[in-house]
Amino acid sequence: MNTFRFSHETLDPAALAQTLRDPACGGYASFEGWVRNHNEGLEVNHLEYEAFEPLALKEAERIMAEAVQRFGIEHAACVHRIGNLAIGDLAVWVGASARHRHEAFLACRYIIDEVKHRVPIWKKEHYQNGDSGWVNCERCAAPSEHASAANSPSQDAEHRHSHDHRHEHGAHAHRPEHGGHHHDSPPKAVPDYSRQMALKEVGPAGQAKLRASRVLVVGCGGLGVPVMQYLAGAGVGRIGLVDGDRLEASNLHRQTMFALADVGESKAILAAERLRALNPDVDARAHTLRLNADNAADLVGEHDLVIDCTDNFSTKFLLNDVCVRLRKPVIFSSVYQYEGQLQVVRPDRGGACLRCIWPEATRDGLVGNCAEAGVLGPVPGVFGTLQALEALKMLLDMPGQLGNQLLVIDLLTLSISRVNIRRAESCPDHASTRVQRAPAANLEVEFDSLDDAEARGLTVIDIREARELEEMPAPSGNARHIPMAQLLHGPSPLAAGGKYLLVCGSGRRSLAAAEELRSRGFGDVYSLRGGVAELARRSLT
Ligand SMILES: [Zn+2]
Repeated sequence: MNTFRFSHETLDPAALAQTLRDPACGGYASFEGWVRNHNEGLEVNHLEYEAFEPLALKEAERIMAEAVQRFGIEHAACVHRIGNLAIGDLAVWVGASARHRHEAFLACRYIIDEVKHRVPIWKKEHYQNGDSGWVNCERCAAPSEHASAANSPSQDAEHRHSHDHRHEHGAHAHRPEHGGHHHDSPPKAVPDYSRQMALKEVGPAGQAKLRASRVLVVGCGGLGVPVMQYLAGAGVGRIGLVDGDRLEASNLHRQTMFALADVGESKAILAAERLRALNPDVDARAHTLRLNADNAADLVGEHDLVIDCTDNFSTKFLLNDVCVRLRKPVIFSSVYQYEGQLQVVRPDRGGACLRCIWPEATRDGLVGNCAEAGVLGPVPGVFGTLQALEALKMLLDMPGQLGNQLLVIDLLTLSISRVNIRRAESCPDHASTRVQRAPAANLEVEFDSLDDAEARGLTVIDIREARELEEMPAPSGNARHIPMAQLLHGPSPLAAGGKYLLVCGSGRRSLAAAEELRSRGFGDVYSLRGGVAELARRSLT
């Protein structure tokens, strides 16, 4: 049984407890609220309870059903007195029985707290001095959350407002720490994703995907604040927050997650604290630094998706280059006064990048940032929200993602346009990641040793990273060491018409690099099949 009822009669807790007995239940918890003889320094003689019954019963039944569902208990019941009560009378009784005591305790507490907050019941206290007054302070205690339940015409006129006289009851609880104050601390709330999980595009599988996702938010400003809040609210498992700045008062009109009292504090640390408060499920990690060429790859590397919320172009292009190299998706947005744009770069899907549109990195200072040009708070708010939306669509594999298009919105005129963008053949950045080209002929060659290759007139280039060389040195004293990124980007170190053999660890990167160099006109570039691992194997046999 899961019932709530009102009673005009004296309550008998022992009889009520009997109604919850069940051989399958090992735990039973109950709460009793008693009428006490004082309130706010006034002596109370007796009191009256009144309820708006149709509404009260409906809401109370909802609470009972919630308790059963949330805590998995077997039975719960609640009876509330109405009419005249004397000091010491039992005013409200709650009981819950469950397989184990833990659930019974939690459900019992949940029911009494929710009944006090949500069910429209009023109390009139009669004082020793002949005075009387209607009180209903549970609703004062939580007016914002439960205001809808407290619409009684009698309330405004007669309700005595005070935040100290919340208790009509002393309490006799089966939970010692409760101490008779059933509202001391509300039940510990847990994140609830039901409103988004109800979407067929999300569901439990989508929620699990979000939980397993790691997103790097670069910049905790006007764009970053809505981005991180929505991602944390959605239950993204890990959110990295990069910002080296401290909060300034002039930030607050657009960075509304922060407080004036926080001015001077690190924004990344503040943001991480806010996100943890918003959703304790989220692993929010603050990185109080400015992104640069030394730290970007490590940070990007440990996340699945990057969201650029910076307002400077050097960081945007740095992020672009790193993400293209590591094949990580990145969502860019830029805002200028009332206008902004959104671009999603998918190196993992061979999409266009920032440099495909702007081959020369736009110099900082060429376009004003918020500090110089001025901005209305909601403008970055809109674009940050769009970034969060695109991020969730991407993480959930939803349809309708912004593909190879630049979305431009003028919020002053409310005009929206989309510009198709294409991967530029000349783009230096993702040239090395082209994958759909037909393989050139004779790219891969085999040698027993690098000396053999050199004897055939090939210049050996080891394209591995320095770290890899330390672990396994190149088996030839003559090999030149030019890491792949350096070989493919920037001025070419290769002589036109030269013959080269590229070597890497396994032969995969050298094949891609050789293919790329062939496409740039170096006709005699080859890749060593199997890389140095294969050479090592051959030298043993
Ligand atoms: Zn590009």
